[in-house]
Amino acid sequence: MASTAQWLSGMARTVDQHLDEETTENYSVGNLSARTVAQIEKHLLICQPCRQSVAASDAYVASMRQAAANLRKAERKAKRKVERRAGG
Ligand SMILES: [Zn+2]
Repeated sequence: MASTAQWLSGMARTVDQHLDEETTENYSVGNLSARTVAQIEKHLLICQPCRQSVAASDAYVASMRQAAANLRKAERKAKRKVERRAGG
């Protein structure tokens, strides 16, 4: 029994390889060369499953960045509170 994923990968095989998880993540982070990005974007034009992976990865990276920013903000706030208490 052929799954939909197998059917889709058969369809896209002629154009390019699917993005693996690492590539998708590096693409979202912006950690790839312009040449690689161009290849990926060419593939994304014709491959919806990979577009969805990238969208999910983008959302993940964005939420991680937001969480990191919130953490830094909270740390700064906590530090200020400690300094205020120490300084009187
Ligand atoms: Zn693909």
